[in-house]
Amino acid sequence: MNHRIEIEGAGLAFDSIEGRSVLDAALQAGVELPYSCRKGVCGSCAGRVVSGQVQGVGGVAVQSDVCAPDQVLYCLCEAASDVVLAPLSWKKLDPAARKTFSAKVYSNELAAPDISVLRLRLPAGQRAKFQAGQYLRMRMDDGSTRSYSMANPPHESDGVTLHIRHVPGGYFSTRVARIAPGAVLALELPFGHVALDPEDTRPIVFVAGGTGFAPVKSILDDMMRKRVQRPIALVWGVRDASGLYMRGAVERWRRQWPQLRFIPALSDACDGAQDIQGVFMGRADQALQSAFDSLADHVIHCCGSPPMVAAVRAAALAQGASAEDFHADVFVPGPAT
Ligand SMILES: Cc1cc2nc3c(=O)[nH]c(=O)nc-3n(C[C@H](O)[C@H](O)[C@H](O)COP(=O)(O)OP(=O)(O)OC[C@H]3O[C@@H](n4cnc5c(N)ncnc54)[C@H](O)[C@@H]3O)c2cc1C
Repeated sequence: MNHRIEIEGAGLAFDSIEGRSVLDAALQAGVELPYSCRKGVCGSCAGRVVSGQVQGVGGVAVQSDVCAPDQVLYCLCEAASDVVLAPLSWKKLDPAARKTFSAKVYSNELAAPDISVLRLRLPAGQRAKFQAGQYLRMRMDDGSTRSYSMANPPHESDGVTLHIRHVPGGYFSTRVARIAPGAVLALELPFGHVALDPEDTRPIVFVAGGTGFAPVKSILDDMMRKRVQRPIALVWGVRDASGLYMRGAVERWRRQWPQLRFIPALSDACDGAQDIQGVFMGRADQALQSAFDSLADHVIHCCGSPPMVAAVRAAALAQGASAEDFHADVFVPGPAT
């Protein structure tokens, strides 16, 4: 049975979809609520239910430790009656904004032994419209899709650049290094809601785990082009020195922002680590705790695997960051839902 879902104070209402989350129903109706992973991990879609009842899709719990006590995760719950929701923000989706493309591989290079940088060109005259920090879905030959963050800034719109870590046993990522220039891949974009406020001038700390650097690169290249002035720090957590696969980009940002703090965090001991300027030996969450006395009134933007984001979130909150100022882009493994 369908129920009516209303967004408080927005003058917007749409029908629920049986067996699908209220987030899915909103997106289907052209209403974008904050979201990232859509699998209950990142907490981006946490919001309040002002009236009415929700229940977990397929019986799952609708809250987790990333929610405030009065919040539920909109990606995990469906309407069990007519409901009024109070999301952190909302906007009307432009139905023409998301497009599918047949993109051609322009170059495919190994940036590290287990990281491919794939540059794709769109067909002549076509442009990718996205916001820095958003991601795309790539269709596999078995019909499933994988999500990858754009690493290029939005103004480089004639193609997309992806940083793909080779996951042992992974269906796509173990094949990516063998994709030859000229191959055609099916993409759909953009996806994801980037919660960063361009007007905010408070200090911002990016925390990237491995190829979580990709969306951070897109955002920082975009901020550089827009000449944004605010205190910026970047913690890049990797296993060993080879994981810092694009230090040249960091050097470029440093030329624009001499005050940029860069903290490379190596979790495994390795030769030559001591030669890396400012290196922290340990995980990204430990580096964050060691580098900042307080994260009160800081914005934190964290991108990487679910356990990494969970650890960084706990560290950031322990250092005084507020939950509203912690934004995450979680690389939940497996086919996209
Ligand atoms: C929003 C979003 C953005 C993403 N952006 C990027 C990106 O920019 N770069 C990038 O490299 N990846 C990114 N990912 C992850 C990516 O979508 C794939 O999950 C990943 O490349 C593995 O795909 P696969 O086909 O090789 O593995 P699959 O065949 O899907 O998985 C094979 C096995 O490996 C496990 N597995 C998959 N990924 C991991 C992992 N990271 N760590 C441990 N085990 C894993 C799976 O659980 C499964 O058991 C993103 C994911 C999301 C949701």
